[in-house]
Amino acid sequence: MIKGSGEEPESVQSSEEIEQKMPVGTKVEASKVAKVPKRNMDKPSKKAIEEENMDEGEMVFVMPGDIIGTTEEFSPGVGTFLHVADIHAASTGIVKIDRKARIISVVPSTKYPPSINIGDIVVGNITGLRESVALVEIAAIKGEGEREFQKVGTAAIHVSNVKDSYCKRLDEEFSVGDIIKAKVLNTENMRLSTAEKGLGVMKAQCFNCRTVMVKDNNKLKCPECGRVEKRKLSSDYGTGIV
Ligand code: ZN
Repeated sequence: MIKGSGEEPESVQSSEEIEQKMPVGTKVEASKVAKVPKRNMDKPSKKAIEEENMDEGEMVFVMPGDIIGTTEEFSPGVGTFLHVADIHAASTGIVKIDRKARIISVVPSTKYPPSINIGDIVVGNITGLRESVALVEIAAIKGEGEREFQKVGTAAIHVSNVKDSYCKRLDEEFSVGDIIKAKVLNTENMRLSTAEKGLGVMKAQCFNCRTVMVKDNNKLKCPECGRVEKRKLSSDYGTGIV
């Protein structure tokens, strides 16, 4: 085969067929053909059409080398590489499309799914308290119909993001089992904040008898045993309003 003649247009879509049908010696850039993964080569627009119609939050899982779009449609973003006019996934992960900026990228599968974004309000429960962070299992995102979604792992509220004023001890603000409302600060390591007035504990149980406590001024009081506990309370405590 004659390599790299440069006369052929760099068309990927039918190069596999060409390679199979054409006799040895034709002007096909073999080096480029060899690198092209065997997937939808003849229908580059099919996947794009699917993505165009996909619902918000629907995830397209890709492997390294998969063609996820073309430069006609998108600019290559993080986690992609360009080969000829095709944008390929550089890592295993989930396709993310910024339609406004027309950027297509791949969020590595080890990271959180793109369904949670910075600034989202999430609801979850406190699963653990460390010295400087409260651990949260996220259960729902506000605006997504509060529907349950796939488990995203553990998020964390750092002691500096609990409230506007200085927070000395996390165990005076949260208790394991509390249901909280928080804002997403970053999605890289899922940091949350409860500093705003509406954010914080939404529902809490009495440490003694597990009865759901009621708001009593700025504290919580157990209607059963009378125990008083402190929390970083949401202004929506007890309302169930997310
Ligand atoms: Zn009690």
